Amino acid sequence: MSDNHERPTYPEEQKVYAGMVRKKLRESFVLTPKACVVTYGCQQNVSDSQRIKGMLSLMGYGLTEDKHEADLIIFNTCAVREHAEDRVFGNVGATKNLKRAKRGLIVAVCGCMAQQKSVAEKLKTSYPYVDIVFGTQVTHRLPEFVYKRLSGGKRVFELALDNERIIEDVPIDRENKIKGYIPIMYGCDNFCTYCIVPYVRGRERSRDAQDILKEARRMVSDGYKEIMLLGQNVNSYGKGNADGINFAKLLRMINDIEGDFRIRFMTSHPKDCTEELLDAMKDCEKVENHLHLPFQCGSSRVLKAMNRRYTREKYLSLIEAARERMPDIAFTSDVIVGFPGETYEDFKETLSLIDEVRFASLFTFIYSPRGGTPAAVMPDPVSRQEKGRWFDELIKLQDKIQKEYDESLVGKTFRVLFEEEAPDEGYLIGKTDTIINISVKADRSLLGTFADVKITNYDGTFSGILEK
Ligand code: SF4
Repeated sequence: MSDNHERPTYPEEQKVYAGMVRKKLRESFVLTPKACVVTYGCQQNVSDSQRIKGMLSLMGYGLTEDKHEADLIIFNTCAVREHAEDRVFGNVGATKNLKRAKRGLIVAVCGCMAQQKSVAEKLKTSYPYVDIVFGTQVTHRLPEFVYKRLSGGKRVFELALDNERIIEDVPIDRENKIKGYIPIMYGCDNFCTYCIVPYVRGRERSRDAQDILKEARRMVSDGYKEIMLLGQNVNSYGKGNADGINFAKLLRMINDIEGDFRIRFMTSHPKDCTEELLDAMKDCEKVENHLHLPFQCGSSRVLKAMNRRYTREKYLSLIEAARERMPDIAFTSDVIVGFPGETYEDFKETLSLIDEVRFASLFTFIYSPRGGTPAAVMPDPVSRQEKGRWFDELIKLQDKIQKEYDESLVGKTFRVLFEEEAPDEGYLIGKTDTIINISVKADRSLLGTFADVKITNYDGTFSGILEK
């Protein structure tokens, strides 16, 4: 099966470098080398950090959360919001003293923030104690970078953006044994005018369906109960692959894998969300009864300025089409308040859309300019205070809707996956396929299993009982 993306497996060369790192560490009498991975941002970054941890154990590093214990500290950064970067620079700056106290400590910075040339330059000039800076598409070369630094080589700065290849079979350490991520595609071609992601994650590239299926089968046979398919825009999965397998078909193929598990996915984009996809969600019993579909704004005029390429009407028609097929589906979304040029009249359209759709929950943001994006230079006459007032109005509305939605679930029975222990002794947290967390009195032996639970109470959080 050919496609237009090369997909080499994990390079032998990197395995050799990993072996050389292990040898170097033994020679330097670091008997139990430890690495600390600090992850910022989205689930894609969490998934990338799991691959970083997989390569670290290949190099012989154990993991620690404590930077003082670490022989190698890696900051996997996020670039979505400018002020988040200041926090990262602060944390990286704090390693200066750690390095003074621990000779041989290696400090590395990677991820979306590091992928920006301006940031890499700043780290090069103003943070001389940072040893390695690498971008979002060369993560798989970590052993090589560490070996070069360990053997006294120059500081490493590697930001190559190669929009062609997807490296398969990178070692991975998923930590959680109940649920796990499978990235199905990388990059984004949408260029929403407020977003930095396309500039730091490159062009869209979809993994081959057979590689994804192989990974999913392995996870299911390893006992995973939930698979989260990841991508900046999963709905455009398969674009450019010769096998004609799009996201809807991929969902059906994963759903056909033998086993009792749940399929979730994130993030969708209304411009690529199709009725074919909604049909697949309805037909596939393993697929969650939830859709995270960011609408961002209720005004078609502002959506145009955001380059979102759908209108308010299109968005609402998708919601309607989904509800026709799955009446109890839960919708979540993202919304930006105060996009440059947005008026109060536009904002009222956002409020009315929220009132019409009634989201199970919303991720809400006040617009924050992101340097390097088109929106950052657009005229923005409305004051931050005024936008803050709009934002409060939106939160008030969503809190009311969400409370009514949550209260309407009391008395209903859901199939939950027991994912973790609750703070209260003898209780577990079960998550429904509409992403509701319910606290249930249950033995911890039920962790990692599905069960039917009836919601008995809601007082800001849900509690329920096991159905016999
Ligand atoms: S779809 Fe838009 S907001 Fe999402 S990652 Fe791509 S450019 Fe950014």
